[in-house]
Order: sequence, then C-alpha cells, then structure tokens
Amino acid sequence: MAGSDTAVRAVAGGGSILALAARTTELSEEARGRHGAWPTAAAALGRALTGAALLGMSLKEEGSSLTLRILGNGPIGGLIAEARYGGTVRGYARNPFVHLPVRADGKLDVGGAVGSKGVLHVTRDLGVQQPYTGSYPLVSGEIGEDLTSYLGRAEQIPSLVSLGVLVGTDGRVRSSGGLIIQLLPGAEDVDALRLEENVRRLGPVSRAVDDGAAPADLISAALSDMEPKMLSEEPLRFHCGCSRGRVRDVLVSLGPGELRAMLEEDGGAEAVCHFCGEKYRFDGGDLTEMLDRAGG
Ligand code: ZN
Repeated sequence: MAGSDTAVRAVAGGGSILALAARTTELSEEARGRHGAWPTAAAALGRALTGAALLGMSLKEEGSSLTLRILGNGPIGGLIAEARYGGTVRGYARNPFVHLPVRADGKLDVGGAVGSKGVLHVTRDLGVQQPYTGSYPLVSGEIGEDLTSYLGRAEQIPSLVSLGVLVGTDGRVRSSGGLIIQLLPGAEDVDALRLEENVRRLGPVSRAVDDGAAPADLISAALSDMEPKMLSEEPLRFHCGCSRGRVRDVLVSLGPGELRAMLEEDGGAEAVCHFCGEKYRFDGGDLTEMLDRAGG
C-alpha cells in the first residue's frame, strides 16, 4: 500500500509526556531498494530513518532539518539519516551490503552491523543560525537504545525509544515503525517504570506494525490508562531533493583542471547521489559547457 506512512504526535499527563509514533514501512523499503541494502543493513537504515523522522517532528521552520550520524565500528561503517521539515527523510549506509547471522531471539543483528563502539551525532539545522550538533557514545549500536541514551544524557530529556524493521524472506522491508516517549519538565509524578513496562509489553514495534497497528495504536498501547491526546498526524515519505542542476553545480565547483581531466580521460562523467542512489550522467558536450562556466 503506497503512501500510508504517517507520524503521530500525542501528549498525556497534562502535557508532561510527549509521545511520537510512526509507521515507516514504505520509506524504509524505498531506502532499501534504492541502495540495494542487504537485510541487516536494510533494518539498520530503516531504524535510523525512523528515528530521524520521529525527532524531525519537532522541526517547525520551512527548510529546517535534523540529521542523525551513527558512526560505529561495525561493518556498515556509518549510517546517515536526515529528516526535513514537512515529513521527508533520506539516508544511506556507507556499506549497505551487510547481512549477519540472525540473533538467538530471531531479530536481525543491527547492533553487530552498526557496532557497539562509536558515536551518535544529532544535528539540528534550523536555517537561521549555525547548525547545532549534540553527540554521545553509542551504547549498543541497536539505534533505539543509542537514541534513548543520547536523549537522556546529552539532551537531558528522559526518553524511551523503540525502533523496529521487519525484513521479509524476500529481502524486502515488510514493516517498519517507531515510538518515542519523552518525559518533559513537570513529569516528576509520572510512573516511568510503568511506562517502560507498557512499552515492553507492546513488544517489537515492527511486529505491531506488521499486525496492522497504526501509529495512534502504538501510542495508545504505550500510554494505556494515561489518556493520551492525539495532536496531529502527518504523512512521511522518502524524498531526496537532489537534481541534475545541483550535481552540475558541484562538478563545476571542482574547477577547470578536474573537469578537463574528466573530459579527456573519460569523455564524460557520472555522479551518484549518496543519499538516494540516483545516477547522473554527463556527456562530453555537458562537460565542455561546464568548463566554460568554470572559466576554463
Ligand atoms: Zn539524491
């Protein structure tokens, strides 16, 4: 079913509990397909995109963005996931061709693929001042746990983060989703242990989504008996925003020497967008035109 990824925001406890939940099946599958990611890498990328999409719900300005950089010591070699205002995400794994033996509990070994040593960076670019980046060491490489510790330690917002991607036997993403519960100032009376217990009882988010749970259902389950109030529901989708024109500008910025070398050695140029895998080809005529623009 196309276009049914959404994100929901809700509050409970008189506004002291913020809950964000998303279904991200289509966007995770689109990312997998664009990058040709193998199952463990596809799950890692889907989790990262879901985490970015959820945290990106706090963006309020046109053009603002939030980027997760998960740089671990595992074979994936790094994950980048970016969410932009308006509900679009894009991202990639440095090495998408990673698949590890499934763990004893039947889950894909995302922690093994990402690596448990490294750093998570969260950058918010609100478009007005310098982007702000917060960083915290990874705790497991499972991404949900890493975001939980980042939010609690680096941003001092006690949070529960649950992210999950289910990859089918055909290698495609079958279901994907996430849930973030945050305790804001004034939540001192909230029974955090009970919240944790609720989230545990919900089980893997990907399984709940696979069983047909909508984002609002995830929130209702996590905040059961806390009367959550749903505030908004917005569509989410994979979208890169790269274009032939922008890639051409990048090539021109390399300067005449580099352009002439490409023209003489290869007779053309091909550039691949890291974020979405889109290929841009430029022939000799294109390069000659760029050389003119580059002043060469
Ligand atoms: Zn792109």
